[in-house]
Amino acid sequence: LSRIDEAIRRELRMAVGDAPILDRVPSHYLRDETEARGLNGEADAVALPATAEEAQTIVAWCYGHDVPIIPRGGGTGFSGGAVPIGGGVVLSTERLRAVRSFDPLLWRMNVEAGRTTAEVRQLARESGLLFPPDPGGGEQSQIGGNIATNAGGPHAFKYGVTGHWITGLEVIVAPGELISLGGAQRKDVAGYDLISLLVGSEGTLGLITAAWLRLMPAPASSAPVVAFYTEIDSGCEAIERVLGYGIPVAALEYLDPTTVELATAGFRADAPPGSFMVIAEVDGSAEEVVYRREELIGALQEDALSIYAPLEGAEIAALWQWREGVSLVVQAVRGGKVSEDIAVPVDRLGQAIKRTLEIGQIFGLRACSWGHAGDGNLHSTFMIDPASSEDVQAATEAARALFAVAIDLGGTVSGEHGVGLVKGGQLARQWQPAGLRLHERVKHALDPKGLFNPGKKLARP
Ligand SMILES: Cc1cc2nc3c(=O)[nH]c(=O)nc-3n(C[C@H](O)[C@H](O)[C@H](O)COP(=O)(O)OP(=O)(O)OC[C@H]3O[C@@H](n4cnc5c(N)ncnc54)[C@H](O)[C@@H]3O)c2cc1C
Repeated sequence: LSRIDEAIRRELRMAVGDAPILDRVPSHYLRDETEARGLNGEADAVALPATAEEAQTIVAWCYGHDVPIIPRGGGTGFSGGAVPIGGGVVLSTERLRAVRSFDPLLWRMNVEAGRTTAEVRQLARESGLLFPPDPGGGEQSQIGGNIATNAGGPHAFKYGVTGHWITGLEVIVAPGELISLGGAQRKDVAGYDLISLLVGSEGTLGLITAAWLRLMPAPASSAPVVAFYTEIDSGCEAIERVLGYGIPVAALEYLDPTTVELATAGFRADAPPGSFMVIAEVDGSAEEVVYRREELIGALQEDALSIYAPLEGAEIAALWQWREGVSLVVQAVRGGKVSEDIAVPVDRLGQAIKRTLEIGQIFGLRACSWGHAGDGNLHSTFMIDPASSEDVQAATEAARALFAVAIDLGGTVSGEHGVGLVKGGQLARQWQPAGLRLHERVKHALDPKGLFNPGKKLARP
């Protein structure tokens, strides 16, 4: 590979200048969060453009020379989407950081793709506004990556996933054209909904360089209620009760008993051993939160072993910080994990949780799950030693069995992390042949040479 690398780097420099092209390929550009399951890629070059025009020149050069382009944000993805396979140019957006405009009084922001999720949320918050999408890993994940995966998060239950908050995109599409779709206007039905097509496209249709974000006034107050149950079934019944009572919760999360046991150390209150945990949160004006919180406690306390309902801001922040760290705590148990993000209709959640545990038993792996209960979205996880090829193999087979369960229960193989590399071909389980063909025709129409993130998001095995 090395002589090809050098030639590609030299020619790219002639096209775009020295600055954006790194001298070598640092190893962290070859992986994402799937490293914990042993995934590492290879690339010919890493490009870090500082402007959309530089990015355009790089894409045009690559497209003209049949060199694959692998868009990369913060590298926090769980599906290997940003991992380059078999060479090409990793095009990282980390230097595309400008806030092109911010109009707090009009609730909108135009920001380049490389700003982190946390920075955008903080900037909005300083003006009393909220950018609701809150995927974990927000200190590192970028707005471009959030859009490309249509990321969710705990509060997506009430506010919707990332795509819901996008009114415009700037994108570089084949063979190297910089185009704008939508903009600051909040409504636009003039064309086909190309924004939605790009949202969730995982770098396979183009490179997102900037986005117009819709913001909303931040709720004045919020109050979480945590409840523990003896059984998965009673916990899931409580979740359905919250919905059935019509309580407009912002977040509705669960942790199964194994996850509670593993993650309990940093939790501020007592977690009854072996219990199933539900975390729900209401938000709104201070008055609304007072009575909604009472309703929520009423719905959750039936059958509950105990309830924890913090009111202090610091305690609430600590709860969500703890929740964000669950993934890493579970990973630390054996050094690695294969964690899939299936989603099922909410009334099938209990079955999906139990079947995750059964699959773990069948394949000899410790399993657990947690996730966004209101959206029926599980993080079904098999703990592995990443150095053990038997573990990796068993977990890969367990994940396949899990995808079959998701379909069997009327759900999807991916609720929020995307297909990337690790779920390549699994969509074929879910869709009919005509739907798969249409999917492939869309890819071909936008990327006729198949150079944008090759090998990712494939619909068929
Ligand atoms: C601790 C932790 C918790 C998480 N919790 C959640 C959660 O609650 N909900 C959730 O949905 N996800 C979650 N994730 C997964 C991950 O954070 C999201 O998928 C995130 O949106 C990925 O953003 P990124 O910038 O890191 O993208 P990357 O990992 O760099 O890339 C992801 C995909 O997007 C493509 N891409 C990246 N940038 C661009 C661009 N500018 N243009 C075109 N394509 C691009 C890449 O090619 C790749 O296919 C979590 C991750 C971690 C580590």
